[in-house]
Amino acid sequence: LAPAYVRAIAPYPPGKPIGELAREMGLNPAEIVKLASNENPLGPSPLALEAVQRCLPELARYPDGAGFELKTALAAHHGVTVNQIVLGNGSNDVLEFAARAFLGPGTSAVFSQHAFAVYPLAAQAVGARAIEVPARDFGNDPVALLEAIEDDTRVVFLANPNNPTGTLLAPQALLHFIEQVPREVLVVLDEAYYEYLPAEVAPPSTTWLARFPNLMLTRTFSKAYGLAGLRVGYALCHPDVADMLNRVRQPFNVSTVAQAAAQAALGDSEHLTRSITINRVGMAQITTGLTRLGLAWIPSYGNFLSFCIGNATAMYQRLLRRGVIVRPIANYGLPEYLRVSIGLERENERFLTALASALEEQR
Ligand code: PMP
Repeated sequence: LAPAYVRAIAPYPPGKPIGELAREMGLNPAEIVKLASNENPLGPSPLALEAVQRCLPELARYPDGAGFELKTALAAHHGVTVNQIVLGNGSNDVLEFAARAFLGPGTSAVFSQHAFAVYPLAAQAVGARAIEVPARDFGNDPVALLEAIEDDTRVVFLANPNNPTGTLLAPQALLHFIEQVPREVLVVLDEAYYEYLPAEVAPPSTTWLARFPNLMLTRTFSKAYGLAGLRVGYALCHPDVADMLNRVRQPFNVSTVAQAAAQAALGDSEHLTRSITINRVGMAQITTGLTRLGLAWIPSYGNFLSFCIGNATAMYQRLLRRGVIVRPIANYGLPEYLRVSIGLERENERFLTALASALEEQR
């Protein structure tokens, strides 16, 4: 039998694939609009697709377990050294490395209410205590997080922007927070949505690495880079932290295809810029539409938006029947909210039309 701390873990509810939902709902998969998992609606960079093609003949061989080429490209991109980078099978993987390397029975991890669901999962899976701190204005409350740190706390998880609320700590507040965290506590700053941040609010977090040996940044190719299906993410941290993370990962955790595609995507700044523009325009389209429908939302710095709808489960079903998939976030402590990912213009329009019609039905 699994230990009690494993049995106590609440399973992570992933969004269902389009095909499965289409079958369940009796809909044509081509007509379904999926705005449920904060994916890039533009799809992957064409350069990434070419890179995938190029490595197909090599598939009988194991990937480069050290990820040398991708890490070299990332080191140049971020102005860090290769030994400060750890690659993961998605950034979820590196979040788990942090838990495996720094947590265990008799330790605790601190994170905010409404924080990304993987933090408690990763902590509990290794027998650590998960300390959830009340949020402030739906986001991380740095003062409350600091106060919650106990003697046995070894990791603080903080997503900036946060999913599913899209909230952001301003650079100064974030820096002030990191300065106050005791050095024996690892600060895992999850920057999965970093690329979407306008320059004036984007924290210069990579430059903080030299000052804080207990700072670990996580980034991903799943969001703005459009490679969620390939699973590539990474940590940027002090070489000593990287050394520990590397010890707890599987030797070939990132596939050949994923490494090649990520490297190509990193080099396609044009595709990245387009993705960010589409998100900015789509965010305005959706917030305008929600206002018109008289709905309130939480201002978001990500590629998604959570809005208040009352009976979210019923509205989720109504939208589903209209071929639009969004995400209920009751498991994040927000039972009256739905999260919608920002899509292409026509997808956002489909969502708003379906929502208007579903609200009409509710009346
Ligand atoms: N952190 C946050 C805040 C996220 O929202 C997500 C994706 N939902 C991840 C990490 C993990 O993404 P991935 O494993 O695809 O890199």
